[in-house]
Amino acid sequence: MADADESAPQRGFDLFSDETRVEILRALAERLRENPEDPTVGFADLRRRVGVRDSGNFNYHLQKLEGRFVRGTTDGYRIAPAGLLVVTALITGVYGEGTQLGPVELDDTCPGCAKPFTATYEDGLLVVTCPNDHVFRNALPPGAVEDRTLSELVDLLALKSRRDLAFAIERVCPYCYARLEWSATVDPDAELPSIDTQCSRCGVRVEIPVIVSLLRHPTVASFYYEHGIDVRKRPLWTPEFFTAVDVSTVADSDRLRVEIDLEGDELEAILDESLSVLDITQP
Ligand SMILES: [Zn+2]
Ligand SMILES: [Zn+2]
Repeated sequence: MADADESAPQRGFDLFSDETRVEILRALAERLRENPEDPTVGFADLRRRVGVRDSGNFNYHLQKLEGRFVRGTTDGYRIAPAGLLVVTALITGVYGEGTQLGPVELDDTCPGCAKPFTATYEDGLLVVTCPNDHVFRNALPPGAVEDRTLSELVDLLALKSRRDLAFAIERVCPYCYARLEWSATVDPDAELPSIDTQCSRCGVRVEIPVIVSLLRHPTVASFYYEHGIDVRKRPLWTPEFFTAVDVSTVADSDRLRVEIDLEGDELEAILDESLSVLDITQP
């Protein structure tokens, strides 16, 4: 029984182990880009574009893709949405391969220890870290790195982390879209109180800082805004998202109490074990 599940991704890898199939998708994606109104290519034209002489051999590979990755019509073939996903994955995964950037010291400081941050990009991972190993990181594919400076990549990291955490908070894996299971077991004494979760399908680990859930709440967002902080534009490591925040557990319950103090103004929120906001008070 387990074999059926395990072989599904393997079948996907096998399907694209053949260069001709990859080239068919590339040719159809190129046609779509050049001619979005009419993305269909006839059989002979497609075979010529891909550069395969043997018609029978070409047809064999094309049939493997037809249905899910390639749509056959009376006029020929066009790329299907799943085929386009494969092509974009190849593009983002291939360009800029082997790029290494940094370490470069940033103007931003660590919210855990106030020491300066440095950023490094290596092996598809952008890491922003301080000398005390407080780390913010996210995968950025090589294609994202092309034509961007390290400082632009840091902005992209902040944007992607916001998007990924929005998925994770809603219990969706930001990488493979599987359901993400987690419950709010938080160490309130941690410098950056977070929930650690791992996708049971793709294995990616996501750390969800407790404050992230609150920053999505309009009352909290406007509380920050009144103190000059637009939460939509600030990176997750903004000091006021941690140093101004105190997380504790409510006695005899799974609930969390979060107190935010900005320039002497206070806001208190109670969250349940799924980080939903139950109550917000501003004394
Ligand atoms: Zn630090
Ligand atoms: Zn996943």
